[in-house]
Amino acid sequence: MSADLKHTLPENIFRIVFEKSPGSILVKADIPRFTILAASDTYLKVTSSTREAIIGKGFFEVFPDETHLNDANAARTIFTQVIKTGQKIDVPTYQYDVYNADTGGYEQHFWSCSNVPVLGDDNKIAYILNTVTDITGEVKAKEAAIESENRLRLANEATGLATWDLDMRDQSFVCSPGMADIFGHPAGTVLSLEELRSQISADDFEHIVRRSHQKALFSGRHLYEVRIIWPDNSAHWIKAQGMVLFDEQKQPIRMLGTILDITENKRDEIRKNDFIAMASHELKTPLTSLKAYIQLLTKKLAGTDDAFISNALIKAGNQVNKMADLIYGFLDLSRLEPGKLQLKIQQFDMNKLIANVIAETNPVNYTHSIIFKPHGELNVNADRDKIGQVISNFLSNAIKYSPKESTVTLSAKIAGDNVLVAVADKGIGVKLKDQEKIFQRFYRAESDHIKTISGFGIGLYLASEIIQRHKGKIWVESEEDKGSTFYFSLPL
Ligand code: ADP
Repeated sequence: MSADLKHTLPENIFRIVFEKSPGSILVKADIPRFTILAASDTYLKVTSSTREAIIGKGFFEVFPDETHLNDANAARTIFTQVIKTGQKIDVPTYQYDVYNADTGGYEQHFWSCSNVPVLGDDNKIAYILNTVTDITGEVKAKEAAIESENRLRLANEATGLATWDLDMRDQSFVCSPGMADIFGHPAGTVLSLEELRSQISADDFEHIVRRSHQKALFSGRHLYEVRIIWPDNSAHWIKAQGMVLFDEQKQPIRMLGTILDITENKRDEIRKNDFIAMASHELKTPLTSLKAYIQLLTKKLAGTDDAFISNALIKAGNQVNKMADLIYGFLDLSRLEPGKLQLKIQQFDMNKLIANVIAETNPVNYTHSIIFKPHGELNVNADRDKIGQVISNFLSNAIKYSPKESTVTLSAKIAGDNVLVAVADKGIGVKLKDQEKIFQRFYRAESDHIKTISGFGIGLYLASEIIQRHKGKIWVESEEDKGSTFYFSLPL
């Protein structure tokens, strides 16, 4: 221990304090030797050395620096600078690999250090206090984080995914650079949430985006496809998928997710839908004349004694009607592309509409008793044809999925600010797990009954789209094997 320090602190006290201090070493300002005067326990530990092996030796004898000589952060340069300037110098990160006697090799280590000049009796710089901290763990963790971020970025770039994150408390919004590309802007454009939203039509935003986000506030997840308009006015499609994060009070705090450009897939789908629309449209004409001929034949042969012929005509009529239903379903489905389902709002009497739908359905229904007791007028503002389509779907399903001779009851009434329409049957019912899903496109509940009943799972999907476009609600209450009641309500 240096005798030079005896005026400031008793040597034994100095030794104890110093040796217990964090990774510190005290070197003499004897350029270029920098004799080591004291080292703390931690310093010895992190450098895998012993006090006997280093005290009294030149710093660079013990810690050779040949490979670091030109490095501005190298200890020799820093020590010299501290003595010349009399200023403390910190080095936030540098690499100095440590020899491991057990393995016989060098281990990669990163350090941060501070170098403080210490004055001697003559007020000149006599020592340097060098304090080092081993930050290998932090540096490696940071490197790993950067690497994983890079990997994620590369994966996103490779799959064309852009990511976004919205803080719902202060509405701050960040998105990955890929978003500019997907939304048709030059690379590097920073886009705000408002700018991105302005590329979605107000109608699509209301019916697709907002609806999906509102559902996500309960379910925690959202998934939707929507059309966007690029600055050059071309139409593109995106698929948005994401989740909502809640705090302990179950309040939503963040919404985040990915955006994928699905324009190519969507164009294929649109081409396919156009084909279905065209094909179903072409099929409609021969089917209509087939239907007319069957009706003519039925009239002509009314009162015939030939039971086979009248039976065959009834069956042929039924089959043609089924086929017409399917074809109209496909036609409607192809019209459902956002922006294509246009509502023609008019005032009409709901009771009259229900009576009409029953009258249209009755000629083909010889099996069930249909009960409807209207009370006066029930005027609503809505698309009459489309609401008629919903009632017709409810009614034909009630007949399809309930035993012959059973009753189907229709009703309409005012409930608060809404008109509520219900169609109840005593049929096979819908299992609880299927009750929400049957309103999805092509979903059919699985059961032995259903397999024998024809259908494509389009009707309720269309009904639900129509009702939602009216800002109404659609749902089912049902018990298996007891029956179902399908409802819709429309704001008055
Ligand atoms: P489809 O009848 O052509 O299959 P829908 O979309 O009209 O298509 O109905 C979807 C599914 O909902 C049906 O496959 C059936 O499983 C169920 N469903 C609809 N209405 C009823 C009903 N009244 N009773 C029992 N199940 C029903």
